[in-house]
Amino acid sequence: MSESPTLHSRRSLTLKFDIPISKTKEFWDSLRAGRFVTSKCSKCGNVTFPPQADCPNCMSGEFSWVELGRDAKLVTFTHVRVTPASFAGIDPYVIAIGELKDGLKVLAWLEGVAPEKAKPGMNMRVEARTSAEGNPYYVFVAA
Ligand SMILES: [Zn+2]
Repeated sequence: MSESPTLHSRRSLTLKFDIPISKTKEFWDSLRAGRFVTSKCSKCGNVTFPPQADCPNCMSGEFSWVELGRDAKLVTFTHVRVTPASFAGIDPYVIAIGELKDGLKVLAWLEGVAPEKAKPGMNMRVEARTSAEGNPYYVFVAA
């Protein structure tokens, strides 16, 4: 049986995302200023990460912003070798879940740590960054 004929294209694919952030704009503005904050429900005091405009605990839409600690312990991670189309052209990377001191879990890239060196329980720190497009984001680095 012969292979079915295939056309190969070497064109680049540009993906553009517009993500609405009106209710969490403060989070992104704070991150741009180097601060790591999240939402705290004004009614029941529930603190969530990522920030949520509507409390998953009591459904209140009233909230304030609180500063988060940056220290975290690595809970688990995955080494992404086959990158999705939106990250085509980017070297393999490590995505980690870290637990902050207050128990909140944060999902972020782990930078500067080779996958074979990453170990659950290791100390990490959250750092604010700015992408080439000017968008703020956060990563873990080894502490
Ligand atoms: Zn609440």
